[in-house]
Amino acid sequence: MAADIIDGKAIAQAVRAEVREEVAAWVGQGGAPPGLATVLVGDDPASAVYVGGKQRASAEVGIRGFGHRLAADTPHAEVERLLRELNADPAVSGILLQLPTPPQVDGAALTEIIDPLKDFDGLTPASAGLLAKGRPGLRPCTPSGVMELLRRHDVALEGAEAVVVGRSDLVGKPLGALLLGANATVTTCHSRTRDLAAVCRRADVLVAAVGRAGLVQGDWVRDGAVVIDVGTNRTENGLVGDVDFEAARERARLITPVPGGVGPMTIAMLLRNTLHAARLQATASEVVMSPQREAG
Ligand code: NAP
Repeated sequence: MAADIIDGKAIAQAVRAEVREEVAAWVGQGGAPPGLATVLVGDDPASAVYVGGKQRASAEVGIRGFGHRLAADTPHAEVERLLRELNADPAVSGILLQLPTPPQVDGAALTEIIDPLKDFDGLTPASAGLLAKGRPGLRPCTPSGVMELLRRHDVALEGAEAVVVGRSDLVGKPLGALLLGANATVTTCHSRTRDLAAVCRRADVLVAAVGRAGLVQGDWVRDGAVVIDVGTNRTENGLVGDVDFEAARERARLITPVPGGVGPMTIAMLLRNTLHAARLQATASEVVMSPQREAG
């Protein structure tokens, strides 16, 4: 029987509606409105579209937007200065430096100077360390979106075999850590994995996060598995994932489409994380303002 489709668009809409309500409640209780600062260096049209989409989505849920557009030849030191200003600005709860940056700006190094309390995409070493240790913190948006899709479909993770193909800092590694935190037995695969097909066939939950159209074939999917396709590949047939969708659907129990699966969840989780960051900062400043509380 063909798998049910996981409707990422609908779930993302539900998350966005929840965040809108939570932001209103937070502000209603006297919390400062969450603020999202985006920093775009240069005029790459795709990056401008991504940043614009994030700002629009923020405005829809009541998150204030602070959009910074810098010229393509802005020196590294100037971008660094701006990020440090945003770190210090109490109106800013989350900071996004849109990657890639022009060659004179070291985007990876600058991402690491973002205040961990404002690192809503969980990319700083501090956030990655908290995740690795299983401690509370801000988690990367796309992996969090995958976990939300699994949660909303009541996919049992405790003791399940989860196979993640891909080990990037952005997706594969943090997702492996989140699945481990949910007590799955996690295998992380990469370009050097031997007999990838055999490893994938063990999976109760199979996640592909590679960036190669059709890498995961139908007969790599165990009967009744849950298949999550994070991949986005532009082909002459349009946007496709890493999984051979039609073939995999014949064997899986649940599967995400591309587009309309994981993609819409990333922005939804960005909004949720920005609100979460605002709460974390409020708590942190309360602790600083009232040290006796900490002692008590
Ligand atoms: P990435 O940094 O390029 O990492 C790709 C990973 O795939 C690497 O770990 C690499 O292994 C592994 N890999 C490459 N070829 C492989 C093969 N033949 N067999 C097994 N593993 C292989 O990519 P990423 O940033 O994680 O993104 C992955 C995909 O997700 C891309 O298509 C990206 O566009 C998409 N994505 C989507 C969203 C969304 O919102 N939907 C968000 C982020 C990313 P090595 O480490 O050994 O090189």
